[in-house]
Amino acid sequence: MIPGPIEISPTVQQAYSVPPPGHRSEELKEAFGASIEALREVFRSSADTQPFIVSGSGTVAMEMAVMNLVEPGDSVMVIDTGFFSKRMIGILERAGAKVAVLEAEVGRAPDPDEVENFMDRGDYKIVFATHVDTSTAVLLDPEPVAKAARARGILSVFDGVCAAVGEVFRMEEWGADLYLTASQKAIGCPPGLGLMAVGPRALAARRNRSRPPAASFVDWENWLGVHEAYEKRLPSYYATPATNLIMALSASLNEIRGAGLDTIWRQHARVAEALRAAWASLGFTWIPQTGFEASTLSALIVPQGVRVSKLTERIARRGVIVAGGIHPQYRERSFRVGHMGWAISQAPLLERTIRAIALALQDEGHSVDAEIAVAAFRDGRTS
Ligand code: PMP
Repeated sequence: MIPGPIEISPTVQQAYSVPPPGHRSEELKEAFGASIEALREVFRSSADTQPFIVSGSGTVAMEMAVMNLVEPGDSVMVIDTGFFSKRMIGILERAGAKVAVLEAEVGRAPDPDEVENFMDRGDYKIVFATHVDTSTAVLLDPEPVAKAARARGILSVFDGVCAAVGEVFRMEEWGADLYLTASQKAIGCPPGLGLMAVGPRALAARRNRSRPPAASFVDWENWLGVHEAYEKRLPSYYATPATNLIMALSASLNEIRGAGLDTIWRQHARVAEALRAAWASLGFTWIPQTGFEASTLSALIVPQGVRVSKLTERIARRGVIVAGGIHPQYRERSFRVGHMGWAISQAPLLERTIRAIALALQDEGHSVDAEIAVAAFRDGRTS
């Protein structure tokens, strides 16, 4: 129950577990083409948006966004809500950007007014924000950021690695220019693919550069023709695609389309709220302030006197793996529970997680009641 790689559905696992298809095979052409079409839909993006599916992880997708959009000397703005915003700042600085950082208080995202005021104080080409920061479980609402950017002719880029499919995102309606994610999170595949949707203004910004990006693999111009071909179910080659992962992606996107994205968004929100009822009944507080809680993971603060590593070890002994804290301010005081993708439809798995955490607390000498916590979860889930 870590925040990725997540548990995947049996159907996705089956689609992945085939002898490696060639990149010119019928099954790969269909899976690649269908995945491109489905990604456009899953990101709620326009017909002239170009999805990209590349080998690598979320960090490769971050790098691809930066390397195509940023030229040395460009002024950009980053809304810093935690660990992965800081990673983005590092990638931007390497690319030679002048980076202005709007630092958020830990546990919340800045108010829209604050974002707009900051935007007006500089001459920014792009604003970068993290939809859900995985170190704090803080949710940032991309809508006002994307709209404010659009109104000012600034491009907006969102890191949706820990959000896409688990949190509402409407790329076209909100006027966002780039949304990126990775295969191992709520999209429900094994790790190994960087995914993104690039809108027409961002595509034009790459075309209008004075020089191409300094790295070939992440230059999306090298991948454009490949994706256009596969969407027409024609084979193409720039670098060998991760064919088994694309088979898995296609199966997963098919499941998402079958269930309906709106339904999946609602399920994530409901399960997250029900889990928070269980956490509260166990006496936990969490890092995000009210109104900033992500639906894809929880970042729980451990009770005074409890060592995180000891607690997570005890939880593991009870049969469930959770993740430690990674935000510097909370590294020794928090642990994280992922609740996204296939797992959120598996009540026994979620209840086992609640029980494992409750029993680990009991092992630490805290008098908590596992069954009351499970009942709080059940009430929340069915209400
Ligand atoms: N951004 C966010 C919000 C993430 O959660 C992660 C991974 N946890 C990344 C970026 C980096 O992705 P990856 O580990 O797949 O490179």
